[in-house]
Amino acid sequence: VGWWDHVAPAAKDPINGVTEAFLADPSPFKINLGVGAYRDDKGRPVVLQCVREAEAKIAGSEFLESISASVSTKMVEESVKLVYGKDSDVVKEGRSAGVQALSGTGACRLFAEFQRRFHPESHIYFPDPTWSNHHNIWRDAQIPERTYHYYDPDSKSLDFAALMDDIKNAPDSSFFLFHPSAHNPTGVDPTEEQWREISYQFKVKGHFPFFDMAYQGFASGDLDKDAQAIRIFLEDEHLIGCAQSYAKSMGLYGHRVGCLSILCVDSKQAAAIRSQIQQIARAMYGSPPVHGILLVETILSDPNLKSLWIDEVKRTTLRQNLEKLGSSLNWEHITNQVGS
Ligand code: PLP
Repeated sequence: VGWWDHVAPAAKDPINGVTEAFLADPSPFKINLGVGAYRDDKGRPVVLQCVREAEAKIAGSEFLESISASVSTKMVEESVKLVYGKDSDVVKEGRSAGVQALSGTGACRLFAEFQRRFHPESHIYFPDPTWSNHHNIWRDAQIPERTYHYYDPDSKSLDFAALMDDIKNAPDSSFFLFHPSAHNPTGVDPTEEQWREISYQFKVKGHFPFFDMAYQGFASGDLDKDAQAIRIFLEDEHLIGCAQSYAKSMGLYGHRVGCLSILCVDSKQAAAIRSQIQQIARAMYGSPPVHGILLVETILSDPNLKSLWIDEVKRTTLRQNLEKLGSSLNWEHITNQVGS
């Protein structure tokens, strides 16, 4: 008696609120834009063909008991190649501390906890605005947040001058979070030249860049192009952190498959950091569910399935097909805009 009398309902999550409003709306024309995942004409989740084929391949495999180290290592290896480039030095030299994570959210949460343990006095700078859950994730890890200028509502574009000022005025060695492509919620990304300037200024200030990559492939239809910001930072030899999610890019929202990677000075440091993050994960949730990890691993390591996936990610294919079908509507917005 009385144990929980002081517990009031939590504030509603703004994104879940959109879904609740959607479900409550009787209109037959309603569309839920709250969750950025593939949907068919009837608004149902789309299962990609590559996922269907991977399911068939892994059916009956002996994965139910527990996750073997090799399973998770393969998924992490392939994820790291996807984001840093398969020929990048960090991949060749084994300088990335990567761990499987519970989708993008879980990867951010692991990083925030890691940040608190090893930089307890630090802050995190978010773009203004940012995905609403970033606030919750770093708050729960007890890392205070600050914001940097990003979106200018008047011009509906990036406020680059103010962003650069904030980077310059932040204390040296600050942690910054970036959306490398398809910024959520604005859809506005820096240009290649602007990323170069940001990267240069990060070198000057010694800031730490953390990239939350929730939509690789969704902005341009090209996985490498969407990783361009990260590749620019790599060229400038930054040590960066990255959260990856397969929720949207493989339509695996319900399976919670993701990866957290942190670049290190050498493979020895990578081993130390990996073991620390694994220890954090162990206390939070033990180990992640294996089914989704096996699906992603199967797709990324089978050349045929991987190229099928790359094709499916390309929204340009969608546009071409619509045009081939003789649609007279203008579908340019599908390739011109960043649909996050
Ligand atoms: N980061 C950003 C910027 C997002 O928009 C989202 C999802 O909406 C996520 C992370 C989390 O994605 P996941 O479903 O993989 O946890």
